[in-house]
Amino acid sequence: MMAHAPTLLVHGPEYLEALRGYPPDHPLRPIRGELAVGLMRAYGLLDDPTLVVAPPRMATDAELERVHAPGYIERVRELGLLAAARGTGYELQDRAYGLTSPDNPVFPAMHEAAALIAGGTTLAAEWVMAGRAAHAFVPLGGLHHAMRARANGFCVYNDPAVAIAAVLDAHPDARVVYVDLDAHYGDGVAALFWTDPRVLAISLHESGRYLFPGTGDVADMGAGAGYGYTVNAPLEPFTGDETYLRAFTAVVPPLLRAYRPDLIVAQLGCDTHWTDPLTEMGMTTNVWPLLTETLHTLAHELCDGRLVATGGGGYQTYSVVPRAQTLDVAALLERALPDRLPSAWLAAAGALTEAALPPRLSDPPAPTLPAARQEAINRATDAIIARIRTDIFPLHNV
Ligand SMILES: [Zn+2]
Ligand SMILES: [Zn+2]
Repeated sequence: MMAHAPTLLVHGPEYLEALRGYPPDHPLRPIRGELAVGLMRAYGLLDDPTLVVAPPRMATDAELERVHAPGYIERVRELGLLAAARGTGYELQDRAYGLTSPDNPVFPAMHEAAALIAGGTTLAAEWVMAGRAAHAFVPLGGLHHAMRARANGFCVYNDPAVAIAAVLDAHPDARVVYVDLDAHYGDGVAALFWTDPRVLAISLHESGRYLFPGTGDVADMGAGAGYGYTVNAPLEPFTGDETYLRAFTAVVPPLLRAYRPDLIVAQLGCDTHWTDPLTEMGMTTNVWPLLTETLHTLAHELCDGRLVATGGGGYQTYSVVPRAQTLDVAALLERALPDRLPSAWLAAAGALTEAALPPRLSDPPAPTLPAARQEAINRATDAIIARIRTDIFPLHNV
C-alpha cells in the first residue's frame, strides 16, 4: 500500500490526571489506557515513523451541546464541583440524569474528565477529516451509552457522538459510518442519530435479552429520514470467533460499500473476550485483528483511509485490554508483531495485578460448547443475518 498520512494515537497523562477522582474499584479502570499504550510502546509501535501521539483536549460546551442537553451538562459540572470540594462524591446522585452509583457514580471534576474524553475523540476526528492523520486510535474513547440528558452504562458524555456531530457541523453533507463491535449495544450513538441518515450506525452485540442495555433488536432500524440507518445484529451468548466473523463479514462490508461513507468511526470494545467478567460473547484475541484490518481496508477503499477507532469497553484490564488495543493499532499501521509479549511489559504489568497475564498476543481457542448448543447459536446468527438482508439491505440497494 502507498505511504499515507500518519496514524494518530490520542493519549497522554492528561487522562489519568483528569480521572484521578474516579472510584478506584469501578470496572472501567482509567489505568487501562496506560497499560495498553505501555504495551504498544514495548512493541516499538510508538517509534513507528508513521505514528504520531497527541494529547487530548477538552470538548467545549458548544461541542457537547450538539448532542447533550445544556441542563444535563450544567448538572454534571455542578455535581463534579461539589464532589471535588468534598474530596469524594460517590454518595451524591441525581436519578433524573442517571448519575447514580455504582454504574455512573458522581466523582470529583466529573465534567472535566468526561469533556476531556469527548474532546480526545473529537480531536481525532478533526485530524482525520483535515488529512493531518489517515487513521486515529483513541484508547480511552468509546463511551457509547451516554444519552442526550442521561448518564448510562459507565458513560457521562458520548464521545463518539460528540465527535461525529462535530464532523457533521463542519461538513454538513458528510456521511459517517459508526461501527460498534463492543459486546454491549451502542445505544447512545444510535439514539442520538436515530433520525439522521448522515450517520449509518451498525452495532454487533450480545443480545439485549441477556445483557445491558437490554435494547438493540434487529427490528430497531431508526426512524423518519433515518429509517434503515440503524443496523443491529443482536447475537447469542457464546457466539464465538467463527460465527461472529461470519456475521461481521455478512453485514459490515456490503453496507459500507453501499453507503460510501466519508468517515468511519469505530468502537472496538474488547469486552467480547470470553474471559470478560461482564459479558459472555466467547471470543478470543485471534479474531480482532481480522475485524480491524477489514475496517482499515474498507476505509482506504471507500474514504481515503479516514478511520477513527476508539478502545471502548473491556473489563479484563490487564490480561485483555492491552493486547486488544495493541493489535488494533498494529492493524492500522500494517505492522506484524512477534506473538510473545515483551518481557519488560509483562514484568511491569504483572507487578500491578494478582491476575495471571497471558504470555502471547494470540489466545488458545476459547472453551468449546456442546455441538448442539453451537449449532443453535449458528442458526440464530444466520437468522439475524437473514433479517438484516431482507429488511435493511434493500433500503441501501444492496
Ligand atoms: Zn461494553
Ligand atoms: Zn492505512
